[in-house]
Amino acid sequence: MDVEMIERACADCGRVFTPDRYNAWRPILYCGPSCGRIGRRRSRYGWRFNKFENDPEWAAQARARSAKCQRDLRARKKAAKAAAAEAAARREEAERMEADSVRKAAEAEAAAIRRTALLLFGLCADLSGSETPEEVARFSARMLAKGSRLGGLEALPAHQSTYAFPSQATAGP
Ligand SMILES: [Zn+2]
Repeated sequence: MDVEMIERACADCGRVFTPDRYNAWRPILYCGPSCGRIGRRRSRYGWRFNKFENDPEWAAQARARSAKCQRDLRARKKAAKAAAAEAAARREEAERMEADSVRKAAEAEAAAIRRTALLLFGLCADLSGSETPEEVARFSARMLAKGSRLGGLEALPAHQSTYAFPSQATAGP
């Protein structure tokens, strides 16, 4: 049977033609190169391609769906970004408040220590009847020496020593 004698309908335009088996473009399916190009493209994209060409309403809906997907994706990305930024801000705020409370506690402790030191200073001044800070210092040094001798320095851990008399109380060897 001679293939060249068979007539065929072009797969793209439908025109009846006689295939030439020696041609490079697919002569069995399409009547010519232009029909071959568009026909191969059609078969590659298939049903969707045909639908886009032949059904304008469906094509418009499909484009609308695609656009909505893109919009939703952008919105989700934007929302995730905003949520991450908000979480970071909240974390930063919590850290700032934590640091603030630590600083306030340290300040309160320092104020309490200052009060205690002033109280001891005033007590020493009153007990010794001193008129000047130097007299109070001499008296407090004497009191500390007495306390160390009677109580023993070992009985008094360094961090519990009175802040009013730091030099003699905490100076080690
Ligand atoms: Zn054709």
